[in-house]
Amino acid sequence: MPIYRAPVEDYRFLLGEVFEIEKARDLPGFTELSPELVDDILNGAARLCEDVLHPLNQSGDEEGCHFENGGVRTPKGFPAGYKAYCEGGWNGLSAPESVGGAGLPPVITLAVSEMAMSANQSLAMYPMLTQGAYGALLETGAPWMKEQIATKMVSGEWAGTMCLTEPHCGTDLRLMKTRAVKQPDGTYRMNGTKIFISGGDQDLTPNIIHMVIAKIPDENGQTHDDLSTVNFFLVPKFLVGEDGAMGARNGVVTGGIEHKMGIKGQATCVLNFDDAIAWRLGPKLEPVKPGEKRSTSAGMAGMFGMMNAARIGVGIQGIAIGEIATQNGLAYAHARRVGRALTGAQEPDKPADLEIVHPDVKKMLLQARSFVDGARALTVFTAMQMSIGHSSRPEAATAALLADLMTPVLKAFGTDMGFEAANLAMQCYGGHGYIRDNGVEQFVRDARINMVYEGANGVQAMDLVGRKLGRKGGAAPMALFGLLSGWIAENEKDAAMAVYVAGVKRGVENLQGATLWLAANGPKNPNDAGAGATEYLRLMGIVMLAYLWGRMAKASLGKDDPLHRDKRMCARYWMERMVPECPMLLERIQAGSATIMELQ
Ligand SMILES: Cc1cc2nc3c(=O)[nH]c(=O)nc-3n(C[C@H](O)[C@H](O)[C@H](O)COP(=O)(O)OP(=O)(O)OC[C@H]3O[C@@H](n4cnc5c(N)ncnc54)[C@H](O)[C@@H]3O)c2cc1C
Repeated sequence: MPIYRAPVEDYRFLLGEVFEIEKARDLPGFTELSPELVDDILNGAARLCEDVLHPLNQSGDEEGCHFENGGVRTPKGFPAGYKAYCEGGWNGLSAPESVGGAGLPPVITLAVSEMAMSANQSLAMYPMLTQGAYGALLETGAPWMKEQIATKMVSGEWAGTMCLTEPHCGTDLRLMKTRAVKQPDGTYRMNGTKIFISGGDQDLTPNIIHMVIAKIPDENGQTHDDLSTVNFFLVPKFLVGEDGAMGARNGVVTGGIEHKMGIKGQATCVLNFDDAIAWRLGPKLEPVKPGEKRSTSAGMAGMFGMMNAARIGVGIQGIAIGEIATQNGLAYAHARRVGRALTGAQEPDKPADLEIVHPDVKKMLLQARSFVDGARALTVFTAMQMSIGHSSRPEAATAALLADLMTPVLKAFGTDMGFEAANLAMQCYGGHGYIRDNGVEQFVRDARINMVYEGANGVQAMDLVGRKLGRKGGAAPMALFGLLSGWIAENEKDAAMAVYVAGVKRGVENLQGATLWLAANGPKNPNDAGAGATEYLRLMGIVMLAYLWGRMAKASLGKDDPLHRDKRMCARYWMERMVPECPMLLERIQAGSATIMELQ
């Protein structure tokens, strides 16, 4: 069975030594965040993930979910694992205290998410989706929904889902067909089919709160292939009265579950809405002038909030699978004997040396490790920017821009590279990784979906290049380059930092070159932007990790224990082996779209 040790020491290093959250007590949710409390939370989460969730991961994959009598049964042990998670209060970590949560900032909640996703992505997704759903409900719901429904979701008594995808559209939601028609009592009747709904049904909770997008027909009874009539709704599996009492079964029918490549313990459902009673969320719909159409319905803001949180959550899933896979690859390379070290036998009394002596094996593991630790730092960086963005600090607006800019990077770079890390770890096992017994091929299968759902990675790249770069006159990339050049200027006179500063500088020059090229060519030919978007996102990911490795190296200077030595080693690896990709990515972007667009 695979091993898992939660990266508590790494979080302590990041939060305490690199980001120094002790000095950030002015930020929302940080007031009570003493090092002792942070330690307690990290250690508590580690125990739950190592002892309860992780032991159910391989068995959950083997057994999968069952669709029986119109409902879903999750794998053996999942209901107890879910109960332990909720009873520990982990489901409400990020929720405000007013609804029974702990009100902790994202820098802590995302750390706990990572551990849970490493330990058991399938199981951890049920509460993760609930957290996204109650977050959106708290933003957009009526007071009775917050009091009677959100509180039960915060405790984990009820779960939540997000229902966007339909058979003919996942990315292009303009084309959705699900309709909701207003009733005299102010509720709506919903009809349509949603597919691929994670946690769409399960046996963990007695009720499920579906957060659904659907179209409200206009005054002529028409819907349109755009977002003008799309709205955001709450649709419970069992109806809920304003007093919180659970009533009759609503018209939400589970049509079946998908048989899929990975995350087999997670129920991916077809949901049919057959005259389901729905409540519209968000501000009141203002009438539009005759002959005019809404560009986007007001209620969509709640959905976008939920999706942004979920994008970061999925990026963390990528990092999390990379973490557990790397731990196992490293352990195997320290146990398997194969060949001799190139410079002569390391253990001549044994028939062969350990696999870890081979440079190629070390390189695979360093590639995986330097990504995982670097991307974890990017998560903490982004979480800090989110909190600063919500504070009264003078840099709040810039921080919010940076958090927004990093959202697609974390999602796509985190999951592309997380999959690569899982693959590299599997390679360390040779043929023993490809067979099922060792459990490492599960990581590759589980990690693959992270690149697809919550917006395919190519779509994330288009969001970065097409929307985020140019918004507000390019304010976000300007803020980023200000931050990076400020760090370079601060450190370039320090001889001990020379190798790291040189790496960041090289990365930044290429990222600036690519940004200017896209700004000059994208508006003239959008295909040029589209053809280079994925490379641009990867380039930004590499440069951000170079910057964060620079910061981690700085925090490790002069400290000679294994943790800090390893951090400096990984930082040098990133500068030597990943930063050289930057000029190549720039060249690819500058190749433009002409050849690519020839493909019919
Ligand atoms: C296991 C699983 C769980 C899921 N969970 C949920 C859930 O809980 N709720 C939910 O609503 N959905 C869920 N989904 C659906 C998922 O979000 C969609 O599958 C995904 O967004 C892609 O949509 P699609 O499959 O319709 O692909 P399409 O939209 O048909 O896209 C196909 C491919 O075309 C490319 N592409 C499309 N548009 C563009 C573009 N504009 N620019 C560049 N490339 C583009 C991308 O490479 C994409 O992968 C889940 C899916 C799976 C498999």
